[in-house]
Amino acid sequence: MTPLYDEDADPSFIEDKTVAVIGYGSQGEAQARNLHDSGVDVVVGLREGSSSRDDAREHGLDVAKTPKAVKRADVVQMLVPDTVQPAVYDEHVKPNLDEDDALMFSHGFNIHYSQIRPPEYVDVLMVAPKSPGDLVRQTYERGDGVPGLLAVEQDHTGDARDLGLAYAHAIGCTRSGVIETTFREETETDLFGEQAILCGGTSALIKASFETLVDAGYSPEMAYFECANELKLIVDLIFEGGLSGMRDNISDTAEYGDLTRGPRVIDDDVRDNLDEVLEEVQNGEFAREWINENQAGRPSYNQLKERDEEHLIEDVGGELRSLMTSVQED
Ligand code: NAD
Ligand code: MG
Ligand code: MG
Ligand code: MG
Ligand code: MG
Repeated sequence: MTPLYDEDADPSFIEDKTVAVIGYGSQGEAQARNLHDSGVDVVVGLREGSSSRDDAREHGLDVAKTPKAVKRADVVQMLVPDTVQPAVYDEHVKPNLDEDDALMFSHGFNIHYSQIRPPEYVDVLMVAPKSPGDLVRQTYERGDGVPGLLAVEQDHTGDARDLGLAYAHAIGCTRSGVIETTFREETETDLFGEQAILCGGTSALIKASFETLVDAGYSPEMAYFECANELKLIVDLIFEGGLSGMRDNISDTAEYGDLTRGPRVIDDDVRDNLDEVLEEVQNGEFAREWINENQAGRPSYNQLKERDEEHLIEDVGGELRSLMTSVQED
């Protein structure tokens, strides 16, 4: 797999286009501002009465209601939350798409699971920065960028890939490297990653190991330091040097425990669970469940979230974090 860089992009594919960025949240703000600073004509599409209007204006951007923004634009980047995209698309975007426009996304969920079905007369593509919006903006401002993904779902004009690369260039992603993928691969790996490790697996392992120490009579404060707080230091080492780089920086005792006990914690049963989680992503079961959950007003989501917010680890963590901040301030 060869990443694509600045020299692989031809900025002329976006130079004479108007881009409507729909939504001004984490990604919307970052992408709109980077595009604008790269000289691309940008209009931010917002809903009636949006509180982001003044922010976007202060940042020097044109703002319009979503239908007007889409009508004016040649390229429409959908950056409202994934769960509201289908409704925004049906009501405000679809009726205003013209032939040869490009419909863009930064995550493939709604296309891959057919929650949005674009007409055949537009290009459909994805440019997805692999990072939160604030980093997309900060790295761009210092002349750098975050890695990105590029995928073309529908190439009506024949220029969809070139347009995507020019877009990735304008938001700074080709400074760091852009990898080509598909909507399916991006969606399924993104969901699996956040469920298995980044969010789900990590949260569950933090809670389970914290509970193990506390149930065995150790102090919750010690348990919090060991099972939650120190994780950042280890993840930073992995970010810089991979697993072997991390292992070079921990004690031999920690490393021996890692090598011998890690595989017992994540044993064959856990691997079977991972397979199951992946299967539910692949066969659409997770997507159906989440779509229904949203349609029902998120009853389980709210209940599970509330339950976790009442967990002992939250109280202990809150106190320790405020203590650590005041220690640092001293
Ligand atoms: P966000 O929640 O930060 O922002 C969404 C914006 O849409 C907000 O300004 C909100 O006010 C606005 N909005 C909400 N409902 C609306 C409606 N009905 N009509 C118009 N505007 C509405 O969203 P985000 O995290 O920037 O995600 C946008 C897209 O980017 C998603 O597809 C997401 O998967 C993708 N993405 C996000 C990240 C990330 O780290 N945040 C990373 C890569 C890709
Ligand atoms: Mg248009
Ligand atoms: Mg995701
Ligand atoms: Mg992700
Ligand atoms: Mg230790």
